[in-house]
Amino acid sequence: MTVATDILALRLDHPENLMARHFSADYFSGLAKDDQARVLKIIKSGLDNPDSQMGAYAQHSVDYDDFGPLLDPMIRDYHKISAGVDIAQKHDWSATASACSLEDIDEALRDVSMRVRVGRNVASFPLPGAMTKADRIEFEKVMVKAFENLKNDADFCGAYYSLTPGSDFELKGQAYQTRVDAHQMFKDMSGDRYLNSGGISSDWPYGRGMYISAAEDFIVWVGEEDHLRIMAMKRGGDLAALFARLQVGLEKFSALVPAFAHSEKYGYITSCPTNLGTAMRASLHMALPNLTGGGQDLDAAKAAAQKFGLSVRGVGGEHSGAGQGGIIDISPSARLGVTESEIMQRLFDGAKALWLLETKT
Ligand code: ADP
Ligand code: MG
Repeated sequence: MTVATDILALRLDHPENLMARHFSADYFSGLAKDDQARVLKIIKSGLDNPDSQMGAYAQHSVDYDDFGPLLDPMIRDYHKISAGVDIAQKHDWSATASACSLEDIDEALRDVSMRVRVGRNVASFPLPGAMTKADRIEFEKVMVKAFENLKNDADFCGAYYSLTPGSDFELKGQAYQTRVDAHQMFKDMSGDRYLNSGGISSDWPYGRGMYISAAEDFIVWVGEEDHLRIMAMKRGGDLAALFARLQVGLEKFSALVPAFAHSEKYGYITSCPTNLGTAMRASLHMALPNLTGGGQDLDAAKAAAQKFGLSVRGVGGEHSGAGQGGIIDISPSARLGVTESEIMQRLFDGAKALWLLETKT
């Protein structure tokens, strides 16, 4: 059996696996041996995990340029950009006039858990899938210096916690678990079969950690799926305030760290092609008992949300189930070919459409 025949079989069994859907045996066999080895690392996760949605993780920023014929069709398929259309990612943070408050949809939506994050990778390091243990430790050191600076900012002062064994700021045991349960810190990645295959969770927990502001509404993850996940998180309904908090924090933090990997075409470079472009995911934890068939049926909610360009995740993040009373995570699916402001607008419009559906059923 060759890789190409394996992938053909995978395509028939798992049409949702975008890597399998777009893999070209001709393109692959035309590559030099070294490049074939690089491609095999990129698609390993999709091969090992037939149920992958994307099935590929970039290992180096240049992968997107070097292997365009492999990755570009997958990227377009996920982000719904037709083959003929030019991709030239634009950024726009000029906030949103109408996507202001969830309370404008319904009074009942005044206390929703809101989160918006962007992924960023520092250009001078390999992407997480290809980092060595030494890279991970060095990367964290560079970030700790930046956080020491951020601590001097009145609005963004806070604390850094590290998972690196023996660190001066070590977070472990129950203290770590409490942060995970509060959705502030990321889960133990070593149990994630997708990240394991992509090399992203290697050397766990070295080089991993998080910065959290004193108000606990601005958080930076170090060493998860991307080098950095920078986010604002709040309870309430004011989407504009949430967005503004991320915008200002991101601007201040970016000034303290080395340059991020960015391409004219694909915008911010991320490990997973689903995150390219804005690398932004804006999400709400909404209780939708009717659309989840009484509280548990994530697939029913996915079908409803898809019509409005939204993805559905469980309440514990990707690959988890719905929470008590049908609480699910909804977020606009596209991150490439849309601006940051448009994503917030899509979240608002999508939440409104889903809420109308939920309350009339
Ligand atoms: P991402 O890939 O955007 O970081 P994940 O699905 O990996 O998101 O989830 C990461 C964490 O963020 C999980 O603990 C998840 O429950 C939490 N989370 C996501 N959206 C929200 C939200 N709106 N409110 C609270 N927690 C959230
Ligand atoms: Mg994630």
